[in-house]
Amino acid sequence: MGASLQHYLKSFLLWELIKGLRLTGRQLFARKVTIQYPDEKTPKSPRFRGLHALRRYPNGEERCIACKLCEAVCPALAITIESEEREDGSRRTTRYEIDLFKCIYCGFCEEACPVDSIVETHIHEYHFENRGENIITKDQLLAIGDKYEQQIAAARAADAPYR
Ligand code: SF4
Ligand code: SF4
Repeated sequence: MGASLQHYLKSFLLWELIKGLRLTGRQLFARKVTIQYPDEKTPKSPRFRGLHALRRYPNGEERCIACKLCEAVCPALAITIESEEREDGSRRTTRYEIDLFKCIYCGFCEEACPVDSIVETHIHEYHFENRGENIITKDQLLAIGDKYEQQIAAARAADAPYR
C-alpha cells in the first residue's frame, strides 16, 4: 500500500484522534498527580527558602547589629542598609530594605548573618498590589519575624545539622 493511501485511510478513519483518546482514557484511571491548591498543598522541604524576616531576641531587642555582611554577600544587590549609633552606643540599622524583585532566594544573607537575624521563612504565598510594594522594609521584616518566630526557631533547630 502506498504511503499516500495509508495517510488517506488514517485521515479518513480519524486514526490520530483515536490515538489521542486512547491516551486520555488511560490517564482517566491513573493515579492523580494534580492537587486542589490552595485547599490542598504539597509537602515543602524543611530547607525551603521563602519570604525574609528579621528576628529579635526573647527580650524584644532586635538581633541585627548592622554589620552589613548580608548586604555585601547578596549576589543580586537586593539588600540596602543604613545604620547609626544608638544612644546606648550600639550600632543599629536605620534602614533595612530588601527588593523582592531582585532577590533570587539564594539564602546567602542568612548564611552570612553572625547573629541569626535575617532569615528566610517558609512563607511563599505573598503578592504585591501596588508599585513599590516589592521593597520590603525593616518594620515589615521585623513584623514577619515577630509573627513567625516560633516556626522560624523550630525550623532552624531542625536544620541545625546542615548548617
Ligand atoms: S536570598 Fe540571596 S538574593 Fe535574596 S536577599 Fe538574601 S542574599 Fe540577596
Ligand atoms: S541582618 Fe545580620 S548580616 Fe545583615 S546587617 Fe544585620 S547582623 Fe549583619
